[in-house]
Amino acid sequence: MQVLKFGGTSVASAKNITLVKDIIVQKKDAGSLIAVVSALGGITTQLVNASLLASSGDEGYLKLLNQVEQKHIKTVQELISVKAQSKTLGKVKILLNDLEDICRGVFLIQELTAKTSDKILSFGEKLSSTIIADFLNDSGINSSLAQPQEFIITDNNYGRANVDFGVTVPKISAYFGEQLPVYICPGFIASSKDNQWTTLGRGGSDYTAAILASALNAAELEIWTDVSGMMTADPRLVRSAYAINEISYEEAMELSHFGAKVIYPPTIQPALEKSIPIRIKNTFSKEDAGTLISANASANGQLIKGLSSIQNIALLNVSGSGMVGIPNFSHRLFRALSNAKVNVVLITQASSEHTICVGIDASDISKALTAIESEFAFELSARKINPVEVEKELAIIALVGANMKEQVGVSGNMFSVLGQNGVNIKAIAQGSSERNISVVVHEKEVKKALNSLHESFFLS
Ligand code: ADP
Ligand code: MG
Repeated sequence: MQVLKFGGTSVASAKNITLVKDIIVQKKDAGSLIAVVSALGGITTQLVNASLLASSGDEGYLKLLNQVEQKHIKTVQELISVKAQSKTLGKVKILLNDLEDICRGVFLIQELTAKTSDKILSFGEKLSSTIIADFLNDSGINSSLAQPQEFIITDNNYGRANVDFGVTVPKISAYFGEQLPVYICPGFIASSKDNQWTTLGRGGSDYTAAILASALNAAELEIWTDVSGMMTADPRLVRSAYAINEISYEEAMELSHFGAKVIYPPTIQPALEKSIPIRIKNTFSKEDAGTLISANASANGQLIKGLSSIQNIALLNVSGSGMVGIPNFSHRLFRALSNAKVNVVLITQASSEHTICVGIDASDISKALTAIESEFAFELSARKINPVEVEKELAIIALVGANMKEQVGVSGNMFSVLGQNGVNIKAIAQGSSERNISVVVHEKEVKKALNSLHESFFLS
């Protein structure tokens, strides 16, 4: 079984979906395939916005739903022949009516639970997959619409549910046992054990595809997107960025965790466990080689693979002369943050042990402060620890490559390039993996920092 995934831009319009069809036609000669599809480009964001407006009692949500409706109807009309259109429009309208009913409920009650939010967001993929499957059938390509709620089973952690692989893997094998020529499968959505719609997190269609590839022992997983591979830097920020030919799972994971949006980080794990290579390909330039992510890619090629950045970071500085004497200090700090569901993106500790500095997403600041203040209430009142200092509007820039440790002076070069370009470094961290050197800089300096580092490490 071949597993392919097409992202939001790849299915954003009738024209783009036609390109997707061409790729499917070409691939299906080699055997059965599953095409995992995202929602039409932009739709998930519109659904998020509509649900937020509805929950705040703002009737503006109706306008957004109307745009969502028009977009899907137009796509059907442009794609599907007149004689087959009414059947697809019927299905699409049933989905849109359900969506509107749920949003109206949110509007009336003015409450949006995580569970309801997942239900609303799942319509994006239900709509896109319905339209694409009907379009393929209308074009003479025998395709069936797979129902992930029957085989991707999760817990009830709405918004980013955890897959129960023990239950899911046998269900996938049974579901796809028959091997029809083409399956269209909505990405991102799943079901909890008690039959509620759940979602796998933004970007989760990549993960759906990886789960299927792993459960079915696919020879390769193809992620079709709007760029020609995983690139040396975010092409929107660094114009001279270029596609990386080969990269290891670990490096790809490191780059994607540090902001290379092209692949959703959890995607890599199921592929890595079964050594299934992942290939990133460009729907709009399908002859380009793309990037191959696999187990042995780090042995050859460049030492430094890519640069990435995460914006909207805040640094929390915890310091105090009494810190050294507090038993289990860091353990308690990280436990408190983890219990409060604060994701720690970066840690640096000065060798003096009087200061520990954690980088978190800025949206987690108040959660993090509450957690730290309650865990260390006694130490704070006894002045063993100073009040936590918060620094905002920061970004992390990471240089990634498995073999960097073998090259002397990479971090030195990094700091001097930044220094020469007048970029002020607020904090530095090197992961123990030594696959990553990260610096924290002001948000305003990200573009300058990325471009000067790219120039120095990737173009010379
Ligand atoms: P899809 O909808 O196909 O899943 P995404 O928008 O999630 O696509 O990811 C592709 C985008 O990721 C690209 O258009 C590019 O702008 C962005 N991107 C950020 N960093 C990188 C990188 N290092 N390499 C490639 N693309 C990147
Ligand atoms: Mg994506």
